[in-house]
Amino acid sequence: MSALEPLRYHSTRSATPTVLISQAIAAGLAPDGGLYVPAALPSIDLAAFDPHGSLADTAATLLAPFFAGDALTDELPAICAEAFTFDAPLRPLPAHPHTLMLELFHGPTSAFKDFGARFLAACLRRLPRDDTRALTILVATSGDTGAAVAAAFHRQPNLRVVILYPDGLVSPRQAHQLGCFGDNVQALRVAGRFDDCQRMVKAALNDTALQADVPLSSANSISLGRLLPQMSYYAHASLNWWREHGTPLNFIVPTGNLGNAMACLWARGMGLPIGDVQLACNANATLPEFFAGAAYQPREAVATIANAMDVGAPSNFERLRWTFPDEAQLRALLHAQSVDDETIRAALLRHAHEHGEVVCPHTATAFALLDRHPASDDRPWAVVATAHPAKFETVLEPLLGQPIAVPSALATMLERSATAKSIPADDERLKRWLRQHADR
Ligand SMILES: *Cc1c(COP(=O)(O)O)cnc(C)c1O
Repeated sequence: MSALEPLRYHSTRSATPTVLISQAIAAGLAPDGGLYVPAALPSIDLAAFDPHGSLADTAATLLAPFFAGDALTDELPAICAEAFTFDAPLRPLPAHPHTLMLELFHGPTSAFKDFGARFLAACLRRLPRDDTRALTILVATSGDTGAAVAAAFHRQPNLRVVILYPDGLVSPRQAHQLGCFGDNVQALRVAGRFDDCQRMVKAALNDTALQADVPLSSANSISLGRLLPQMSYYAHASLNWWREHGTPLNFIVPTGNLGNAMACLWARGMGLPIGDVQLACNANATLPEFFAGAAYQPREAVATIANAMDVGAPSNFERLRWTFPDEAQLRALLHAQSVDDETIRAALLRHAHEHGEVVCPHTATAFALLDRHPASDDRPWAVVATAHPAKFETVLEPLLGQPIAVPSALATMLERSATAKSIPADDERLKRWLRQHADR
């Protein structure tokens, strides 16, 4: 591995200064407020992958060039083994061998965010810090990120997690998960929307005076420590499909902040056998309108039943633009569609009746896009299943008229008590709170 060229990273807003991956992961956001990107996306020889390897093995091979020259290089296989302790099965639907589900919800908090959060935690645990004060991981969540990060960092020495979520806009079970950890995890319910939470986190991270008093890092999908590992399941699934069928696999990705889809596009850019990538958005149509030819127009999010995708200003858009600087080329390479709540519900019901299984509302958004494909499209499509349906029982149970079985990890969390402190959607209030609660 040491034979690889060191890979340096810079901000989406400037080609200098550059850092190695450890620094990019430790910082979260670049000092100028941009997002870290690699100086060039590495390419990879498919023969480098062990055909019988596990997801963790695929991840270690895939991510090696991203860690080249860095202090964590030799630790990468151990980091992957520690983070990827559960599988991401690619499952054909009964009677539809060319329609598959890539199930990303088998981790401790039942959503795909577990992959990135656990990898980030495994990296941060190993990074030397010259500061003896606790590092506060700030995370804005539209529902699932916060729990995944809390689970990954719970009871980690010298680390603290502060979660911000929009009060009343996450499902009751999501809210319970966010507030049930305690110890080094604090949940703040913000009187606002997800975009307010995200803005408050960015404002705190960008405040150098605050950072001097309270060492801060982020765990949002802007962090490369979360984005990079998410490439692994796309690599693993597409390689397995390609070895068996000799064709690329196409993906429909339920999309909010573009973290999951960005990972898929980077995996494709590295040379993995990934075909078309379609972005399934809910009624928040910032991306679909851009891809239809309009100017990029970030806006306030609207609440939908696929709440983890209620994003009006996708935070990874800057990375997408950096990856494909030519707008016309970008629009030609990707496809995004918006799906309203009624259509999500219809897709959910249809899927339940046709395939006898229940999916979460985010996954249903992707199925709604699949429903729009022409009958002549016989390419293999993998619908990315981003969360377990049991997290969204208040949407699903009235619709389907039946209870949804709860996975055991989720059931354990729901048995604990939960608390969250309320806070206004005000940047300065968060900063003050962080100062008051430093080093706890
Ligand atoms: C976070 C999340 C999404 C959206 O993922 P992005 O990376 O923000 O695009 C979709 N579905 C579920 C269940 C999520 O938790």
